[in-house]
This record gives sequence, C-alpha cells and structure tokens, in this order.
Amino acid sequence: MKVAVFSTKPYDERFLSAANREAGHELVFLEMRLTESTAFAAEGAGAVCVFVNDDCGAGVLGRLAGEGVRLLALRSAGFNHVDLAAAKRLGLTVARVPEYSPRAVAEHTVAIVLALNRKIHRAYARVREGNFALEGLLGFDLCGRTVGVIGTGKIGLAFVRIMRGFDCKVLAHDPYPKAEAEALGARYVPFIDLLGASDIVSLHCPLTPETHHLIDAKAVDAMRDGAMLVNTSRGAVIDTRAVIRGLKSGKIGSLGLDVYEEEEGLFFENLSDKVITDDIFARLLTFPNVLITGHQAFFTVEALTAIAETTIGNISSFERTGAALHPVSVERLA
Ligand code: NAD
Repeated sequence: MKVAVFSTKPYDERFLSAANREAGHELVFLEMRLTESTAFAAEGAGAVCVFVNDDCGAGVLGRLAGEGVRLLALRSAGFNHVDLAAAKRLGLTVARVPEYSPRAVAEHTVAIVLALNRKIHRAYARVREGNFALEGLLGFDLCGRTVGVIGTGKIGLAFVRIMRGFDCKVLAHDPYPKAEAEALGARYVPFIDLLGASDIVSLHCPLTPETHHLIDAKAVDAMRDGAMLVNTSRGAVIDTRAVIRGLKSGKIGSLGLDVYEEEEGLFFENLSDKVITDDIFARLLTFPNVLITGHQAFFTVEALTAIAETTIGNISSFERTGAALHPVSVERLA
C-alpha cells in the first residue's frame, strides 16, 4: 500500500524502513507537517501516517478522504489531535499504537524529577563555567516523600513502580483505580486530597475534555507550598498561565514539562536561530526552577522500534482485511 508519512524525521525513516522490510509498503517520507495546505501530498496514497503535532481536524481529514486516503495510521498512543467523529463520517479508519514502551515515558519522568530536585541542569552549566558553589542547588531526599500520580494507566503504573523503588509514598488518582497500583503500595485518594498531600505531582492521564486544564488556578492553590509539578502526558492538561502564576508566587517550587499546550510548530524543530514568538513559552524558559524537554519522553530505541512495527502491522492488517490491528473510533477504543 502507498503510505504518505508526514512529519518524517531521519529516525522515523530509519525505524519505519526497517519495520517495513518484509511488508514492502511504498512509504513516501515527507518532512512537512500535515495541515490543510499540505494534505495534497497524500494524493494516490491509501494511507497517511502521522505524529502528535499533525493537524487531523475535520478540514484536513476531508481533504485526505478527497485524495482517496482510507487509513490514518497514528505513530502515537494519544489521539486527542484527531477529529474521530469527522473520520467516521468520512469513512476513514484511524489506527494507533496503544502501547510501545510505557517504561520509556516513566523513566524520562523520573529523569525530570531527579534533575529538578538536585538542580542538575543548573549544576551542569555552573561547573562548565568554573562555578563550584553549592548555593541554590539544595535538594531533598526522595525517600519518604509523597508522590501524587494522576492517571495510573500503563505509564502511570510504571512510574509508581519506580518511585516505590525510591521508597516514596505514592498517592494516586484515577477514575478507574487499578488493583496493580494498590499492590505496589499506592493509595487512591480524591484529586484535591492528592494535590494537598503530595511533594511531587506527576500527570499521566490522557488529554480529554474532562482533563483539559485539570491543573488550573484552583488546583495550583490546592497544592502543597513549594511542590514539584511534572507533566509528561499532554500539554493542555495544564493551564500554563495558572502554573506561571504559581511559579511567580512560589506556590509551585519547581516545574518539569515534556509537553506544552501550544507545542505544535515549536517542538521537534531546530529553532535555535529563530525568535520564539510564544511569550508564555518564553516566560517559562526564564525560570531557574523550570526544566523543559521537547516531547522526548518516548524517544528510546525500544519505543521507536515498537512504534514502527505496530504502525506497519496496522497498515498491513488494513490492507489485508480492511481492519487495522488497533483501531480507534468514537465508539470503540482498541
Ligand atoms: P493509558 O490509557 O494506559 O492510561 C491513562 C490513565 O489515565 C487511565 O488509567 C485512565 O483511567 C486515567 N484517566 C483518565 N482520565 C483521568 C482523570 N480525569 N484523572 C486521572 N486519571 C485519568 O495511557 P498511557 O499509555 O499510560 O499514557 C498516558 C498519556 O501519556 C497518554 O494519553 C499520552 O497523552 C501521554 N504520552 C506521552 C508521551 C511522551 O512522549 N511525552 C508518550 C506516550 C504517551
């Protein structure tokens, strides 16, 4: 099947080509992001393969369907960027990679927690400048601290397991509590109680209408003074403006982000010779107690291999049977 692969980076091409060796699909690698003005590039393709910052709104999906596309193969678990109702209306099948490496994201979250707590980002810069002073680098022992985990799905559970290894107390919140989390020693509590009792709050829920701006001004107020907030789920789970106010007042002691609500057009690109025009993002970069990575939590060899293999599996299955291995639709999540 001919597949137009949007937002292709060299590593996507490498891992997808390797996974496609036996399947033999005609993969057309395109560097551009999928938008209304680039959808024409899918002409003649039966499938389009996209990543998290591609535009999969109704307008774009309409154009893809008009070009004859029948399958939208996501290289991600999250599908909040896809208008599933429009896909259904247009007869487009949407497939995703439900699980690739929950450990990859959980381990990156731990890396952010450790770096923020022990100020590794500041220490690295200081030492390179010959500044060996310790003032400003004071951290705390993780052992015995309380970690609040919001969302105990695959990634949240992996994070709970690691933090229990640090001898942290773990509080959890999830509309669907998991026995596995409790077996690991996590205690489910209401959202507001978790915020009030946690030294570290880590977000692992999907972005849905219910979780949009879950961490708003009210939630920030409910947090412990000086708590650490970490988001490796989706940017818009946090109201960035409210969190900036929390950082300015000292209510939030430190902030770690791998995702940002307006990350499209910013993340995954080298903009080092450009002016950043997003004033909110630019403000975040000025805080010494904020650590941002550009949506790289998934970025391990194991995860990229699994993403490529599942994506090719989805495409092959759709070509053979008319159904993807891991379809996602308004009615049913695989
Ligand atoms: P999952 O579906 O296994 O788990 C999500 C959990 O969140 C579920 O247990 C669900 O019940 C819970 N949840 C839903 N609404 C909630 C709410 N209001 N409050 C608390 N919990 C709620 O998903 P996963 O594989 O663990 O991934 C979690 C999220 O991580 C994904 O949706 C995606 O947005 C994000 N993610 C980020 C990266 C990255 O590179 N930064 C990579 C993969 C996934």
